[in-house]
Amino acid sequence: MQKLVITIDGPAGAGKTTVSRTLADRLGYRYIDTGALYRGVAFEAARKGIVPDDDPALADLCQGLDFKFVRHDGGVSLFSGKTDISEAIRTPEMSLMASAVSARPVVREALMGIQRRLGAEKAAVFEGRDMGTVVFPEADVKFFLTADIKTRAARRCRELEAKNIPQAYADVEKEMQQRDTSDATRAVAPLKPADDAFLIDSTRYGVDAVIDQMMGHVQKKLQKK
Ligand code: C5P
Repeated sequence: MQKLVITIDGPAGAGKTTVSRTLADRLGYRYIDTGALYRGVAFEAARKGIVPDDDPALADLCQGLDFKFVRHDGGVSLFSGKTDISEAIRTPEMSLMASAVSARPVVREALMGIQRRLGAEKAAVFEGRDMGTVVFPEADVKFFLTADIKTRAARRCRELEAKNIPQAYADVEKEMQQRDTSDATRAVAPLKPADDAFLIDSTRYGVDAVIDQMMGHVQKKLQKK
């Protein structure tokens, strides 16, 4: 069977992670969470006391990155060197710091190389903000997943609660809006749908309905190949 590169972009809390993982499982593909890489850079920068607009220090940091995705029964973990940083990168502070470092071209360039190497074997679902527009403009099937801000903020609140780091709804919504604005208005690789992406609004659809729609597009592509 043909191996595809599938991209799923969209704003925070649109359900990209669940949907990307499920789609990858259905197809027997790898799932690659590129947001985790930006969070990993944010985490390493914070650990070394680097502020997000210090380009020379960020460039240095990016030269020495040693990230690895490790698959296990419960999902995929991100290691930086020998340390599993999967949990530490999920805090609200790391979300904002990731958004800040992701606006720096030196960081985007460094991560572009890593992402393209991960895509070389195809058979992968890439989740991010610029997968279909910048990193894989030739991807086989592209999706842009959205949902209204209230739905997205409520989902994120539930996720944080499940992780035992509950946050007030108003703070989550504010942080999300801040991140959306900064991701969508940055000069490099802003968050926007690729011209040839299928737009899916998950406000009123559950995961299964979204996956069904996506599978329909993927099957069509596989039949054409
Ligand atoms: O997807 P996630 O919320 O984990 O991403 C964290 C941040 O990383 C985003 O707010 C965005 O600023 C950045 N990001 C990006 N490009 C990607 C993936 C994530 O700029 N492909």
